[in-house]
Amino acid sequence: MRLPCPFCGDRDASEFVYRGDAAPVRPATSEGFYDYVYLRENPAGPMREHWYHAQGCRNWLVVTRDTRTHEVFGAVLARGAAQ
Ligand SMILES: [Zn+2]
Repeated sequence: MRLPCPFCGDRDASEFVYRGDAAPVRPATSEGFYDYVYLRENPAGPMREHWYHAQGCRNWLVVTRDTRTHEVFGAVLARGAAQ
C-alpha cells in the first residue's frame, strides 16, 4: 500500500506509523474519557486515520482509506484537518 504524503509524494506504507481512527476528539472533562481512550468504531468502508511519516517528513497525516479494499482517497496534514 502506498500513501500520498503532501510533502514527500507517494510513499510506501512501511515508512509510516499507524495511530488509528482520526475521529475521536479528546473530551474537556473526565466525562466520556473512557470511551475516548478505549472504544473505537470499526467501519467497513472509507475511514479517516492518523498516520505518522516516521521515515520521511515526520508529519502527522489524516489519510482517508477504504478499510475493505485499502484504496487511499487522499491525505492532508493533521494539524490543518477539520474533524
Ligand atoms: Zn512525508
